[in-house]
Amino acid sequence: MDSSVFAFVEDLRGEGVERVLDRISGYGAAGVTVGAVHHAARDVTPHGLSRLTVRRDGAHFPPPGDLFSSLRLRPPAGHQDAFDGLREACGERGLRLHGWTVFLRNATLGEAHPDVTVRDCFGDRGSPADLCPAHPDARAYAVALARAVARLGVDSVVAESLHFRPLRAERSFVPLGPMDACMFGLCFCDYCMRRAADLGVDAEVAREECARILGGVLDGDPPAQGEVTRAALTAYAGPDVVAYARARSETVTTLVSEVASAVGDEGSRLVFADATGGVKGYRDGLPTPGLAAHDAWQLGVDLVALGDLVPAFAVLAYARDAARVADDVGAYLRSVGKDREVRAVLRPGYPDTDSADRLVAKARAAKAAGASAVDFYAYGLMPHPVLDRIPAALSEIR
Ligand SMILES: [Zn+2]
Repeated sequence: MDSSVFAFVEDLRGEGVERVLDRISGYGAAGVTVGAVHHAARDVTPHGLSRLTVRRDGAHFPPPGDLFSSLRLRPPAGHQDAFDGLREACGERGLRLHGWTVFLRNATLGEAHPDVTVRDCFGDRGSPADLCPAHPDARAYAVALARAVARLGVDSVVAESLHFRPLRAERSFVPLGPMDACMFGLCFCDYCMRRAADLGVDAEVAREECARILGGVLDGDPPAQGEVTRAALTAYAGPDVVAYARARSETVTTLVSEVASAVGDEGSRLVFADATGGVKGYRDGLPTPGLAAHDAWQLGVDLVALGDLVPAFAVLAYARDAARVADDVGAYLRSVGKDREVRAVLRPGYPDTDSADRLVAKARAAKAAGASAVDFYAYGLMPHPVLDRIPAALSEIR
């Protein structure tokens, strides 16, 4: 069974490529998934060069001029030598190298080019980190970025944030319900509204309804109760809002299709990771009830359509419960097709996993549910004793 460990370029720089790859190889992993393009973050890194690591938006390789010279959006420069010799170093250890790529989450680009970011139902561009998948410049950037990572010689390009992203606010003392948050996260930029209108959706009515309902909640109306389903959202916000939300999948499907083709042209393959499972259990490993595959439509992700276009998928199985991991993998396979490769991404430590036995149980559950691979997230974020649980899990599913 295939496997890998996610790692950041800061891990490789801090501890040394040889040492990190030796450790990952020692766990019995088949590969390493290295962050080739990442978003800004400030992370506790228990065994890093510093114990608090500041990451910036950027590509950790020199962007090829032929791909980006004619584009308005170019990736900010990261550690440009991070991939020098990395493929060879992996090869010496029999490790596969995958390029983890964050596509449309980039506040540096969004702040420099606000017009490519999402716009909410009130007309505000309050999320500079969220580039809109419908904007032609963001789409051209994503395709070029995919080609550039594929050209690093990676076995696969692992796509993160290649879809719409959920609403995020650092602070809210307004009790928004899940459906309010879903509506607040909808993009109503000109490109999104035009695409929806082309599909026969009354985009202006959808925008007005979102603004009316959300405006009421912001003014003190009680928030919506219950999880987001199409039926519940129809009852709460009306059919135009649901039709608008669903129309976004055409935007994402066509973009992912272009990116997958570009990656294939460059001799690599795309692994699509949608954020749904990650968002659900991110904080405590206790995901909200709906399975990731069933709720992915809320981010514009139509897994049934993508199943025909993308060779492999990663499901972020951020859950304490092994049965939940199995349920998420199973639902994913039913959506994308039983013959597709589905990789289960597990967190070997806090907050999902409190022992080697639990990690073993989850790896076993993922395999039994039909996963083709298990990936572990992430080298630099987990203490060494936590990472030392990986060998037991991998030997169980070998
Ligand atoms: Zn948009």
